[in-house]
Amino acid sequence: MLLTSNTSLLSASDPTSNRQSKIENLKSHVVLRVTEIFRSVQGESTHAGRPCTFVRLTGCPMRCTWCDSEYTFTGGEHFPMEEVLNRVRDFGCPLVEVTGGEPLAQREAFDLIKRLCDEGYEVLIETGGFVSTEGVDPRAKIILDIKCPASGEAERNHWPNVELLRSETDEVKFVIADEGDWEFAKKVIAKYDLEERAKAILISPAWAQIDLRQLANWITESGLKVRMQLQLHKYIWGPDVHGV
Ligand code: SF4
Repeated sequence: MLLTSNTSLLSASDPTSNRQSKIENLKSHVVLRVTEIFRSVQGESTHAGRPCTFVRLTGCPMRCTWCDSEYTFTGGEHFPMEEVLNRVRDFGCPLVEVTGGEPLAQREAFDLIKRLCDEGYEVLIETGGFVSTEGVDPRAKIILDIKCPASGEAERNHWPNVELLRSETDEVKFVIADEGDWEFAKKVIAKYDLEERAKAILISPAWAQIDLRQLANWITESGLKVRMQLQLHKYIWGPDVHGV
């Protein structure tokens, strides 16, 4: 985090007021790498259908086989924190999602989440699940992806994140590409008692990779307390359109 990495600029002999003003100055220079900020309807989770401002941060060290956000892996623009906040304010939407890429891969995202919570926004964090969610402002709501085998990244699930879930606010998501993924999801749900531990268990089909009726049948036959979800935004605007 920029603030931490620059603390050496603060001399122990500085008068308190001077030190405070330098801290404020450093805070104001926190920079985030951003792919896009836009307003749309929330396409997933129990919040689907609600108007929402999205802050999509750049970069992700994972490479899920079915990733639909590859355009976030590189590029992006460096935005000062205040610029990000101003854009969010301009959209005037009480619900904000911080997403990516992997938003928590940027340490500055933790500051952004706190600032958004301080301003009274209802904040959702969509995370790929391999970065610890410890330290995320507790006022934010976590949507934790648990990667299944067909993603190619199941080995990188950071399981302690499951222990941090709060049943009043946090949701888990499994993207299912084949039957092996569904079997994996069922085992994880049982092992970690996710029906009790999470507010919702979201079962999301990998786009164009699995028959929706087949997945619906598996879900209904299982008797599990899960929720099948489709990515609403892709049905409205198409699967390849960004920033809507
Ligand atoms: S974690 Fe998310 S952004 Fe990263 S590769 Fe997987 S699906 Fe894509």
